Amino acid sequence: MEEFKNVNSVIERVLITEDEIKAKVTEIGAKISDEYRGREPLMLCILSGSFMFASDLMRAITIPVGISFIYASSYGDSSISSGDVDIRTGKGGLDVRDRDVIIVEDIVDTGRTLTAVKKYLADKGAKSVEICSFLDKPERRVFPLEVKYMCFDIPNEFVVGYGLDYAYKYRQLPFVGVLKPEIYTK
Ligand code: 5GP
Repeated sequence: MEEFKNVNSVIERVLITEDEIKAKVTEIGAKISDEYRGREPLMLCILSGSFMFASDLMRAITIPVGISFIYASSYGDSSISSGDVDIRTGKGGLDVRDRDVIIVEDIVDTGRTLTAVKKYLADKGAKSVEICSFLDKPERRVFPLEVKYMCFDIPNEFVVGYGLDYAYKYRQLPFVGVLKPEIYTK
């Protein structure tokens, strides 16, 4: 990958600024702290796209909270959903039995990925499962899903930045931007 200096060559427009992200993550962190006070929830970070959001969100939560990671993807490296959901844990597996799990996701699109992850967690004996997503594209929903904590609704456009990639690139952008369509139609 070439050094990434000229953002304007790949980003059509900024949708959510760094300051807006910071304010919203702080607000959601405070909300989760209030609603889970007296419990010790487990954040389940869905890799790879939500690593940045999960890291900032965890620092905005003031009650005891744990974190685990799973890999789940329905997209591969293209911008079009491919169908099946691939769920993988680290070597020791994932212990969620009797835990209050908060799934931390980058973006809910059709809802396919999180529907599969929710079922996986229920099968593994989680006590409760809620969803916290950084972004949502409500227009695109195919699998109905209750998202308890949502940062931003966005229109049906392909976005990158703040952890979200296109073909493994652009995750390091500190804002969310709409990718120029010519980048993914090339
Ligand atoms: P779903 O299973 O809800 O259809 O898709 C969710 C996943 O699709 C997200 O975790 C993300 O990886 C990917 N995705 C959906 N829309 C976008 C987008 O606009 N940009 C990027 N980078 N990924 C997206």
